[in-house]
Amino acid sequence: MPDLFGEIEPGVAEVVPFDGGARAYSYSVPAALKDTLQVGQLVRVPLGGRVSLGVVWRYPAEPPPAAKLRSIILLEHEQPVMTPDCCKLAEWMAGYYGCGLNSVLETVLPAAIRKGVRPVLRRLLTLVAPPAPEALEKLRRKAPRQAQVIDYLAGQPGPADRAKMVDGIGVAQPAVDALIKSGVVKEDASVLWRVAYDDPFAEGEVVAARGHDLNPQQVTAVASISATLDSKAFRAHLLHGVTGSGKTEVYVALIRKVVAEGGSAIFLVPEVALTPQTVGRLRSRLADLGAKVVVWHSHLSAGERFDAWMAMSLGQARVVVGARSAVFAPLPNLRLIVVDEEHEPSFKQGETPMYHGRDVAVMRASMLGIPCVLGSATPSLETWKNAQAGRYVLDPMPKRVDDRPMPAFRIVDMRREVLHLKGQHILSRELTDGIRERLQRREQSILFLNRRGHSRSLVCPDCGESVQCARCSVSLTLHRTDDTARCHLCNHQERAPVVCPQCRSPKVRWKGYGTQKVEETIAHLFPRAKVARIDADTMSKKDRFRQVLSDFRAGKYDLLLGTQMIAKGLDFPRVTLVGIIDADLSLQLPDFRAGERTFQLLTQVAGRAGRGDLEGVVVVQSFQPATDPIQFAKRLDFEGFAAAELERRAEFGYPPDRHLIRHVFRGRNAEKVNFVAEAWVKELERLHPGVAEVRGPAPCPFEKVQDQHRVHIWYLVSGVKSFLAALLPLRAKVLRDEDVIDVIDVDAQDCA
Ligand code: ADP
Ligand code: ZN
Ligand code: ZN
Repeated sequence: MPDLFGEIEPGVAEVVPFDGGARAYSYSVPAALKDTLQVGQLVRVPLGGRVSLGVVWRYPAEPPPAAKLRSIILLEHEQPVMTPDCCKLAEWMAGYYGCGLNSVLETVLPAAIRKGVRPVLRRLLTLVAPPAPEALEKLRRKAPRQAQVIDYLAGQPGPADRAKMVDGIGVAQPAVDALIKSGVVKEDASVLWRVAYDDPFAEGEVVAARGHDLNPQQVTAVASISATLDSKAFRAHLLHGVTGSGKTEVYVALIRKVVAEGGSAIFLVPEVALTPQTVGRLRSRLADLGAKVVVWHSHLSAGERFDAWMAMSLGQARVVVGARSAVFAPLPNLRLIVVDEEHEPSFKQGETPMYHGRDVAVMRASMLGIPCVLGSATPSLETWKNAQAGRYVLDPMPKRVDDRPMPAFRIVDMRREVLHLKGQHILSRELTDGIRERLQRREQSILFLNRRGHSRSLVCPDCGESVQCARCSVSLTLHRTDDTARCHLCNHQERAPVVCPQCRSPKVRWKGYGTQKVEETIAHLFPRAKVARIDADTMSKKDRFRQVLSDFRAGKYDLLLGTQMIAKGLDFPRVTLVGIIDADLSLQLPDFRAGERTFQLLTQVAGRAGRGDLEGVVVVQSFQPATDPIQFAKRLDFEGFAAAELERRAEFGYPPDRHLIRHVFRGRNAEKVNFVAEAWVKELERLHPGVAEVRGPAPCPFEKVQDQHRVHIWYLVSGVKSFLAALLPLRAKVLRDEDVIDVIDVDAQDCA
């Protein structure tokens, strides 16, 4: 590390220190760094009485006089950890989501980097000119240590780590140096990092590596997006392709083009762990280009995160597949961002900074002047509206590959059906018959129910109560596997009660059903069927999910039963029946997007059927079969649904008509929470009348979570930034009650 104290010349850079850097501060640049310091590099700077690690943020246009500033102390290492565009992106996020730069950086940068973990240089040795046998014998007598090194290297399958060898066989460094000097051994000078990136997906499900010849609609979509690539300008494209239309091949073709031209690409998926097939396909289709693909997901250890980050930063990996935070990947020469299943709510982060990965992707692409491709069979209404207005290019793929038919929907009206059911009230006759036929024909079925556990709630006929979690305002769910009653909000569990906790009545009964009970029902109706259940309870082990999926693919199960974990992205050619057991669950969500979510869910789940040569049928059970989402899904009419729903949203002024900013207040004391929220609204409306349409405060749908009482206020605004400019300073001044925490969620997706 160069000694940088002393001779300081003018030259000013802004640095965001990790310890307490809500913003960037100016520092003078020491002479030794003046020509080399780059945006994105890590440096140590004085901050208050301490020294903090930070990232070089930018060179200010009008710097303050350098003489008045404190100086950067030293450069941590040369490799930048952020790209300049990502610094700009982080700045935009801090402004748009109303939070400090430091909290944005906590999301953007892996913890190991923020803590200053250093790359360790690993030196690799290769035996390049092995001496002839006589020469080696001579060496054994004259310089036994050198001979030892040669023997060691000769026994290695590839290059050997110098430090490891020296430790392992106990030779002295000069022996190694002598061999390098005489040209017998070569030392690899290229920088390697702490450990080789150990890829937990390396043994993922094997998916056929061969590509397909693109069909005409794929060719058209690729051409449209390629044109944007070649234009070197930003455009967002909506790839609106029905389920099974072959969107992945379109992404692959584009990523291959980018990689072949020396660029790099980001591929965002809702949740990597739930889309192992997509990862496998991408991997195998890029292998021949020699492009290393980093898989970025929540199961990576801190060390793996560090290594993956550095591999990207160094240009060793050119493609990253990952969940939302992969949007910040430090890839040099980034030329394409793809967001698959762009409508998925999981792209929105649930904690500060509450950013939307898709929106950040579009913003990053626009800052770089590159295309951003948003793909979905059921685009979010936000994206759809942008496409309709011509702000995004619409690339439609209305047909499935090989002209395979779309699945046919059968809607079962459960209001009538229950009258005919005997013994069980879960599976309709149509669904039972369907499963039986599939079993006979040796085809596969998928059953979908978005509720885990056995029974939904314990109800007491004597006092009329249902048993709630002690700390949350939800019913406890019965889990039959260990006879516990569990809270799905806070994970509290207790022994399943046998008498009413309120009135001690023994007549309590469990009502409603979840996946465990469906599993029992199927076992009862079809004792010989081989059933796999996939939900958060069965999939606690990391690799179990992939194992079950590949066993299902291999035909080891007849039936796959699961929650939303099986809703998306899976491609099984022998599935010809999909049953949606309770379509009303998502309709009843206390959320203005309930209809949109239901339409998406029905379409996505249905899309798992008929993906091979066999036609698929979807059976939807509902007590409200006439509602829009169900009817439009049945007719496969996304555009009709979107038009009707957009009209309804506009009527209420809901997104995408305007932005929704949700302000949640919570604390242990309900009265205090209410009081603070009420007072806040009055103050806001007094000082900034008309700055937003304000609704509330009102209790959140989940009024109590973990003993925290919750109320929310909704602001509906046309411009986020101008609204936050009014709100944030006032909030800093007014909201100082220590017992009440408030959180602002811009473009809220979750309103519970
Ligand atoms: P989507 O993501 O649009 O639902 P996928 O990308 O999963 O669709 O593709 C569906 C299936 O079609 C996959 O099994 C894929 O291998 C296959 N496929 C894709 N493109 C073609 C093509 N041009 N010809 C034949 N099969 C294709
Ligand atoms: Zn009771
Ligand atoms: Zn609880």
